Amino acid sequence: MTASGEGHTAGTRHSTDVDAVIIGAGFSGLYMLHKVRNQLGLTARVFEAGGGVGGTWYWNRYPGARSDSDSYLYCYSFDEDLWQDWEWSERYPEQHEIRAYLEHVAERFDLYSDIQFDTRVTAATFDEATNTWNVTTDAGDSITARYLITGVGALSASNTPKFVGIHSFRGETYHTGRWPHEGVDFTGKRVAVIGSGASAVQAVPLIAEEARDLTVFQRTANYIVPANNGPVDPEVRRARKQDYAGIWQRVRQSNFGFELDFLEKGALEVPDEELERELMARWKEGGFGIWLGSYSDIFFVDEANAKVREFLHDRIREKVEDPETAELLIPKGHPFGCKRNPLDSGYFEAFNLPHVHLVDVKSNSIAEITPAGVKLEDGASYEFDAIVYATGFDAMTGPLNKIDIRGRGGQLLRDKWTEGPRTYLGLTSAGFPNLFTITGPQSPSVLSNMPVSIEQHVEFIAKIVGDMRDRGAETIEPTREAEDAWVAHNQELAEATLFPTADTWYMGANIPGKPRVFLPNLDFVGPYRARCDEIAANGYEGFTLTGSNQGAMA
Ligand code: NAP
Repeated sequence: MTASGEGHTAGTRHSTDVDAVIIGAGFSGLYMLHKVRNQLGLTARVFEAGGGVGGTWYWNRYPGARSDSDSYLYCYSFDEDLWQDWEWSERYPEQHEIRAYLEHVAERFDLYSDIQFDTRVTAATFDEATNTWNVTTDAGDSITARYLITGVGALSASNTPKFVGIHSFRGETYHTGRWPHEGVDFTGKRVAVIGSGASAVQAVPLIAEEARDLTVFQRTANYIVPANNGPVDPEVRRARKQDYAGIWQRVRQSNFGFELDFLEKGALEVPDEELERELMARWKEGGFGIWLGSYSDIFFVDEANAKVREFLHDRIREKVEDPETAELLIPKGHPFGCKRNPLDSGYFEAFNLPHVHLVDVKSNSIAEITPAGVKLEDGASYEFDAIVYATGFDAMTGPLNKIDIRGRGGQLLRDKWTEGPRTYLGLTSAGFPNLFTITGPQSPSVLSNMPVSIEQHVEFIAKIVGDMRDRGAETIEPTREAEDAWVAHNQELAEATLFPTADTWYMGANIPGKPRVFLPNLDFVGPYRARCDEIAANGYEGFTLTGSNQGAMA
């Protein structure tokens, strides 16, 4: 490998093989490579575990996989021509279309030459003598870099519960997050789906179309609202294309990376007829409006939340014909909106089909997986030809903790995070110089339309790297004080809401033994962006720099 430009031109610095190692070739890694290499003129190498670009969309190929964000916003905005040229076929982009889009991006910006596929980064160690990262992979690479930038995704470490007997099952086994590329034909088969989160909600209606018999094992019923997918009115598409600047200005300043705003009044401040009207309009429109674009007090006051819950319970009763099944599908014990709200394209209706069954595994949990199928605590047994685990992910910290990332003094990042993640802005961590974690824990990421946050994270990281290069700074890392304050700030924000009252992956509650800590940041997209900009404008407040000509970068 050749030595990098930056390593040499800095003179006093130790040279490195490349300026930056980037982990992952999804939305994050691709844009980061473009910024670092094409715009800053640095050298970079991307390592990607998959055999192609796409990240989440490379692995999640289960039937029905598509983004729950409107397609005109589930994409990059950094290049207007790219945004104008690309045409999405429906309101929400399907998995294969997103992958095609990211392949197009990789070609358009000439990114492939610096991406090494089928290569998983196993370890990265910071060398304090040379201020460089030494990165090793399962393909035998050992490479040094000044910057280590992770774009590993927040929902990429798939979680399969450690059921007793799980390996004894004689039939086919799948996980939604690791779906076979050639697809799966369930025709004529007896299929189990374990889980009822966003992945199951998308997969169940399509598996039901093929399977002879389908049983969904549900632990927690979810609040699910209609997607209302379909082709977008050509007039709307045209109007959007003419409003590129306006749309992205609004989205970048928004709460969640969408063109959605809370209503002025709270659910408790309006008459019931008005509430019903507003909620019904959003229900009919489909998408996240009822969640992220309705009443803000539903996130803070249970009584307000209960009003929306009642509305949603009635909708489930309307959709599901069998009253007992409807009651089982009605969520209980957690507020609306504090568990990720899946979008529905025929999930509830699937339970009206005679060959689709719902089994409650909250009151009667799964005791074991047997060679023939699934056995519950009360002894009830079910036989299947295939089991689909729609059991989610070790979210946010999982993908980072899988890599042996060692900072100063050889400390492992996952050891530092034993009690929960400790970061500054979700993007950096004290004792780990020049490490940047795009969509890391304690960043807004998963509580927003991901590409919008990803662009902001990448642009902020690129600004730091560019400023460091221009001023001859060698390392940057947050101070302990800044990090402690950020961790405390995140917990305070969360504790003011109802989010911590629900057992969710936001709280780490889906993984046995994981610390119960709210993982994303609740500042919202616009204010978080403003905070990052202010920190940069104030000479990187909360960070320590070494090797800078001026000691700090004002
Ligand atoms: P998930 O929301 O975490 O759902 C996992 C499901 O498996 C839950 O119903 C969970 O029950 C169940 N489960 C886990 N362990 C179990 C056990 N031991 N016994 C019985 N049931 C068990 O995972 P996901 O559906 O893959 O979605 C994860 C996230 O990915 C989403 O929240 C979303 O952010 C993202 N996603 C997005 C899209 C999209 O944009 N369209 C699609 C799919 C996923 P409990 O609820 O009781 O834990």
